[in-house]
Amino acid sequence: MDLTESAADREFRLEAREWLMINKPAERLPSPDTERGFALNRDWERQLFEAGWAAVSWPEQYGGRGLGLWEWMIFEEEYYAAGLGPRAAQNGLFLLAPSLFEFGTEEQKARLLPRIAGVEDMWAQGWSEPEAGSDLAGVRVRAERDEEAGGWRVSGQKTWSTRAPFCNRLFALVRTDPAAARHRGLSYLLIDLHAPGVTVRPVRKLGGETGFGEVFLDDVLVPDSDVLGGVGQGWRVAMATTGSERGLILRSPGRFLAAAQDLVDLYGSVKNPSPALQRDVVQAWISAQAYLYSSMKTVTRVTAGGAIGAESSGNKIFWSELDVHIHETALDLLAEGAEVDYRWWHGFITSMATPIFAGTNEIQRNIVADRVLGMPRS
Ligand SMILES: Cc1cc2nc3c(=O)[nH]c(=O)nc-3n(C[C@H](O)[C@H](O)[C@H](O)COP(=O)(O)OP(=O)(O)OC[C@H]3O[C@@H](n4cnc5c(N)ncnc54)[C@H](O)[C@@H]3O)c2cc1C
Repeated sequence: MDLTESAADREFRLEAREWLMINKPAERLPSPDTERGFALNRDWERQLFEAGWAAVSWPEQYGGRGLGLWEWMIFEEEYYAAGLGPRAAQNGLFLLAPSLFEFGTEEQKARLLPRIAGVEDMWAQGWSEPEAGSDLAGVRVRAERDEEAGGWRVSGQKTWSTRAPFCNRLFALVRTDPAAARHRGLSYLLIDLHAPGVTVRPVRKLGGETGFGEVFLDDVLVPDSDVLGGVGQGWRVAMATTGSERGLILRSPGRFLAAAQDLVDLYGSVKNPSPALQRDVVQAWISAQAYLYSSMKTVTRVTAGGAIGAESSGNKIFWSELDVHIHETALDLLAEGAEVDYRWWHGFITSMATPIFAGTNEIQRNIVADRVLGMPRS
């Protein structure tokens, strides 16, 4: 792994920095998990797309810039350093799109990817159900074949679907073959949330945002052209999606480098901080740097043709615990007289969910024990 930035990388970084400085919204945008915040973020993200910054690592034909994962990492670093937050389109860009590149037909890629980059389609993730969270292979939403209509009729309930009340599409794991063994009978369907038979009910989160949703599906028709990866292949596609979610793309190092730097700045506003707090701030900063280098290692492996694999679970534990640590430390600094900024409180509440979403950390520890360390199951 070569850690020195090439002249071309440096040039790219400076170009991105300058564009963001000139074009970023004058005011900090509200969270995309509120209706107003979602609309404002989407407008901004359309501007990003029009200037060619929405998906720098994608081929140009799909709305990207034709660059690689290194440039994606550099862009993310500059994006968060400019004070910008998570994108409203992130589920489409960072979760669905990698699976579309891997499993989509040419027709699906040509039809769906440019609409993701151009924020025309906004995607929610429909995996969890009231009876299936950690035990994802237990999903009960069922899809029955409708030969005449050339598709599948889907019925059942999904839950905890982030931003579903504001999105128009849902990538969902559903049961297409109730007779097959649990994870063999699943398919990955791309559902239109505005189709007849769909009801989305908002659920208010602890921080007051209404971006969470329950999705009720009543005999909803999904055409064959919206099955991703083939009928019965849902588990395989879903596991590839979790590799992106846990392993690299959903939480770029730029996000934590920026948060750790903000924490250092917050520390600077405390008159007489205790040595314990100083240690916590230093630890957060070092961990963010470590996360950067570990991500560089992953990018090196992936660009050389390697896969992300089960190590993504260790990665997910690391970034979620780092998120919690940064925000707990920030609250401690506020208690010691740091400059009050409501963002830290909101970030703290949000960070509390990170050990739960993308698969709980207990489950990730089971995966690391089993598949990375090869420990016996009992
Ligand atoms: C902020 C947030 C956003 C989310 N966004 C989405 C989304 O967009 N789309 C979506 O589909 N889902 C989403 N989820 C749901 C999330 O994926 C689930 O909450 C998570 O997988 C856990 O499932 P559960 O809530 O059913 O808990 P359960 O599976 O019931 O688990 C309850 C507890 O038991 C523990 N546990 C369960 N099984 C084991 C085991 N075998 N070994 C050890 N411990 C175990 C768990 O770790 C947990 O602590 C989101 C959740 C949150 C909090």
